[in-house]
Amino acid sequence: MNILVINAGSSSLKYQLLDPENGVLLAKGLCERIGIDGKFTYKAEGKNTLDAVDVAMPTHSEAIQAVLNALTDKENGVVSSMAEIDAVGHRVVHGGEKFASSVVITDEVMAAIEECNPLAPLHNPANIIGIRACQSLMPATPMVAVFDTAFHQTMPPAAYMYALPYAYYENDKVRRYGFHGTSHKYVAGRAAAMLGRPIEELKLISCHLGNGSSITAVSGGKSVDTSMGFTPLAGVPMGTRSGDLDAGILQYLMNKYQMGIDEMLNVLNKKSGVEGLSCVSSDFRDLESAAGKGDAKAALAQEKFAYEVRKYVGAYAAAMGGVDAVIFTAGVGENDKAIRSMVCRGLEYMGLKLDAGANDVRGKETVISTADSKVKVLLIPTNEELMIAMDTAALVK
Ligand code: ADP
Repeated sequence: MNILVINAGSSSLKYQLLDPENGVLLAKGLCERIGIDGKFTYKAEGKNTLDAVDVAMPTHSEAIQAVLNALTDKENGVVSSMAEIDAVGHRVVHGGEKFASSVVITDEVMAAIEECNPLAPLHNPANIIGIRACQSLMPATPMVAVFDTAFHQTMPPAAYMYALPYAYYENDKVRRYGFHGTSHKYVAGRAAAMLGRPIEELKLISCHLGNGSSITAVSGGKSVDTSMGFTPLAGVPMGTRSGDLDAGILQYLMNKYQMGIDEMLNVLNKKSGVEGLSCVSSDFRDLESAAGKGDAKAALAQEKFAYEVRKYVGAYAAAMGGVDAVIFTAGVGENDKAIRSMVCRGLEYMGLKLDAGANDVRGKETVISTADSKVKVLLIPTNEELMIAMDTAALVK
């Protein structure tokens, strides 16, 4: 079964064609600068690669047409016709409280996704444009929406409510939603497979540490708490996002520097996190190299990041009444052994022992705790596209 996975942004669109039954990736690529000058990238095993070549893409329709042309190209394509694409899975950022799982896209579903737009004004409208463009070019192909928020809809009220006047929840939908759900769901499933135990029995803490980072408590296969909140700004410090902070700081700084709320939020989203703290970079490779040369702020940024992740691990073990495995995934979690080791430092009291030798690894599904560690530590490369394709295949079958 061939599933086309689409992740549409406002001016870019990522795609993959894959077979969820065996996990084989047939082709992948990227449309960039949609509505500007249009750049198209295409990669498929054993075929000629296209690397940011000029393709006119005034709208998302031309971008998706370029994807379909490349996939079905006589020489460099991977399928002989569009009929060989069985379904399309669309990544949608926000499903609000309306979607607790992936769904086949219908007119009613489109209307419900649109109703979630105010909750993700930068992302959902772009996702919708991508879906509509695809529908018009592939009217006979079933489409599925897979939401970043859906996996977290199982959180209990004590985890998702903020201690604000209740009316803000009732009238304005202000609550914790959480994000990266597709990634957390995927790695939790892989963790159960690696441990050879039913997911229903397991208490897992999934650390998705990338440019954006979130930690999720997964009990019995269900998300019971997660560090991101109403927006992806909450939780641990990230590349450029502050993570949690005292809201009183906003009033203090805005008054002192005559900043408006948009300017303030720009600081919190784009100029904070490990970049703001280190004054070096949002990229953990740069932090590692600067810290190695004695840069104290870069070292502090690494330590602060690891410290906050470790605090979430402790908090979620408490929330679930124990933990069987801690999972590291995404760009930093998969590649940065120093950060993994800093996060795990001092967790021996709860039965978690990292194996320094086993931790000297990158981007590979493997156990990195010692044989006698009661709590297993797992490195699991995430694969959101495969998860989207798996959900899509399951729904259209
Ligand atoms: P995104 O949230 O954009 O999907 P990723 O999960 O791809 O992010 O993570 C990107 C981040 O991963 C980079 O900004 C960088 O900090 C980190 N990273 C990637 N490779 C390495 C590496 N080899 N060592 C340390 N950190 C890395």
